[in-house]
Amino acid sequence: MKAIQVLKPGDIQIVEREIPKIENDDEVLVKVKYAGICGSDIHIYHGTSPVATYPRVIGHEFVGEIVETGQNVMHLKTGDKVVVEPIYYCGKCYPCKIGRPNVCEKLEVLGVHRDGGFQEYVVVKKANAHKFGEHLRWDEAVLIEPFTIACQVTWRGDIREDDFVFIQGAGPIGLAILQYAKYRGGICIVSDIAESKLTEAKNLEADYVINAMTQDVASEIRRITNGMGANVTIDAACTPKTFETAVNVTSSAGRVVVMGFNEIPSQIPQFMVTKGELTICGSRLQTNKFPEVIELFNNRKLNPTALISHRMHYTQIKEAIKLVEDKNQQVSKIILEF
Ligand code: MN
Repeated sequence: MKAIQVLKPGDIQIVEREIPKIENDDEVLVKVKYAGICGSDIHIYHGTSPVATYPRVIGHEFVGEIVETGQNVMHLKTGDKVVVEPIYYCGKCYPCKIGRPNVCEKLEVLGVHRDGGFQEYVVVKKANAHKFGEHLRWDEAVLIEPFTIACQVTWRGDIREDDFVFIQGAGPIGLAILQYAKYRGGICIVSDIAESKLTEAKNLEADYVINAMTQDVASEIRRITNGMGANVTIDAACTPKTFETAVNVTSSAGRVVVMGFNEIPSQIPQFMVTKGELTICGSRLQTNKFPEVIELFNNRKLNPTALISHRMHYTQIKEAIKLVEDKNQQVSKIILEF
């Protein structure tokens, strides 16, 4: 079989490998059908991921069909369509014990710390394979994983009905968060530096958009919210500056959710956090969000294919990466067919 492997930063190849074998009774063999390219895959390719190890078969957003099951697998059978939850955890450390295994001390993410989904076959634990509705197409279901990230963010931000939600960045994750925040009843403001992204946000029913290149973000937020500030601000742009802006524009008793892996410090005065009792929190991966998101997909409550800009064959991986690197504003989510 073929696998897409980053041998070392800057060097990605399609390599020939043995089809992996089921080694434990609680594992399943999945034939990969579709996989999505994420910003973090590109970071691993560029050598800018603070967590990845090499060589690595990348990809953590993938769906496929069960082709073999271990002896102890009861709830899945050959032919089932599944989405793979890409996290492995110890179950014993503090975060695991309090129900936050996504930040396990020994966390391993498929496609980051372990070989992932950009290959024709993958063996995963049965608990990591989630069935979705037969009626869903592969190119819809492949967006389930990114929407679990959005689900997590809206949970961390505790979005309530009629909250003003400010989302910085209208890339695929920003737009998934927009959809989820709307689903939770938020009034959504989206900013980006590209007008084409803001058009996409409007098409997905963003209530307000702000062009951060041409408009003053803080005064726009104040204007839209009648001086209150956003109740929940989600930084899906992930720069040192957008984190500062997030804290600056969030209302008293508001929540700021940070998703970035940037290691450059931001300047945030204590008083800005204390005066309005802001809650600033991180959101990483997801905690048991697959069932909820699959339910929403099965009932077609979200619009996943709106995030897809390119459908390509996995053999075109290098072209796909070039598209992302071109900073072409027309690139949103690229999905690969296997
Ligand atoms: Mn991703």
